[in-house]
Amino acid sequence: PSAVTEYDTIAAISTPPGEGAISIVRMSGDQAVEVAKKVFKGRDLSKVQSHTINYGHIIDPSNGQLVDEVMVSVMRAPKTFTREDIIEINTHGGIVATNKVLQLLLGYGARMAEPGEFTKRAFLNGRIDLTQAESVMDLIRAKTDKAMQVAVNQLDGNLHHLISNLRQEILDSLAQVEVNIDYPEYDTDQMTTKMLLEKAKTVGKSIDSLLKTADSGEILQHGLATAIVGKPNVGKSSLLNRLLDEDKAIVTDVAGTTRDVVEQYVNIDGVPLKLIDTAGIRDTQDKVEKIGVERSRQALKGADLVIVVLDSSRELEEDDKELLDATNDKKRIIIFNKNDLIPVISPESVVQLKPDDTILKTSAIKNDGIETIKQTISKIFNAGIEDNSNNVIITSARQAGLLRKAKNSLNDVISGIQAGMPIDLVQIDMTACWDTLGEITGESYQDELITQLFSQFCLGK
Ligand code: GDP
Ligand code: ZN
Repeated sequence: PSAVTEYDTIAAISTPPGEGAISIVRMSGDQAVEVAKKVFKGRDLSKVQSHTINYGHIIDPSNGQLVDEVMVSVMRAPKTFTREDIIEINTHGGIVATNKVLQLLLGYGARMAEPGEFTKRAFLNGRIDLTQAESVMDLIRAKTDKAMQVAVNQLDGNLHHLISNLRQEILDSLAQVEVNIDYPEYDTDQMTTKMLLEKAKTVGKSIDSLLKTADSGEILQHGLATAIVGKPNVGKSSLLNRLLDEDKAIVTDVAGTTRDVVEQYVNIDGVPLKLIDTAGIRDTQDKVEKIGVERSRQALKGADLVIVVLDSSRELEEDDKELLDATNDKKRIIIFNKNDLIPVISPESVVQLKPDDTILKTSAIKNDGIETIKQTISKIFNAGIEDNSNNVIITSARQAGLLRKAKNSLNDVISGIQAGMPIDLVQIDMTACWDTLGEITGESYQDELITQLFSQFCLGK
């Protein structure tokens, strides 16, 4: 979709709900300036230069009442986010006045925007591709600077360029196949087959390396799901507090989580950790005995990383051993805490440990070894990101799914050629791969998908 299509004029409050100093009401569409003019008292908005901000007042035309003192940005198409005329009204009267401004716009010709509709228009008008639209969503939800960086890169079109290049390579190879089919007398059959095989392999490699980043992408966006487990009194709460207070990390409850599964996000050196079952960690006094191994087992299920805490000043008990066994196949950090006391157990004496376990000795009381825990977490987190030369990370399940599908088509190309299938059949699989890659960027898209995708946005984006 590259030609600008005409749509009606939409409006919404673009700033998050709540009592901020300034709220922005945004409008997009070819009537945006006209609608604004009807309620704005100040300079003539149809005469001001594009991309200027204009001081004035919003007046209710029905009774002449002053609604708010505002700054109005006028941005004319096509150099705008939606490629349509955009009006942004900066209000500063709190929720009531901001709502009133929106109501006025709706009363004088604008329509209430659906969630994500501004971004959807940017896409439909060819301003951004789907990967960029998704990164807008990621940006809105980003929990750390790092996640933000990735989204910004994507918004820049890095993934778009990468996918476009792959599609171009496929297209070139298909063009060559076409030549072969049209002029069989040239007898280039073998060469074409060989070329197609090579192409399927190199494109497949690029897709694989992209897919490898998907796990990190998921972690970037949603946090490294981490369970801190250990029997009561080994020092879980103390360790967590140490991890937190040094960074003044913000612990936020996440909307939408059910009551029995407590999820909290903490930011440790830029790494978003999604702590699983912090209820078990926080209850230090009376309820402590109730939080046993069974509860830890539950927490383990969804964990990307498990931190197993042991008390090195006491003999291992059955609960410790059970937890070590239960986390055997997980990515885990084993902590020998209470290192300030006389050690009774050592990494060498614990038979449940594996050679590749990361073992750290700490003292939560003396604040000893905490830095090493952070470094270890950071290393685990970055492992998948650093070996990514393209600086592109797959952050959406939709993108990952389509990449897998595209890779399958390439596998079909390869096995088809190896089985001696006629080239025009192989060509079909190669074309399928090209199509699927196009779905990632939205070059071959379906209406339903688009609607569903953009509806995940919040209002005003
Ligand atoms: P949790 O039940 O695993 O969360 O353990 P807590 O963090 O509540 O700690 C239990 C007790 O162990 C408290 O009295 C802590 O002060 C103490 N404790 C925690 N870490 C250490 C440590 O590294 N050294 C010593 N000596 N005591 C610790
Ligand atoms: Zn505790």
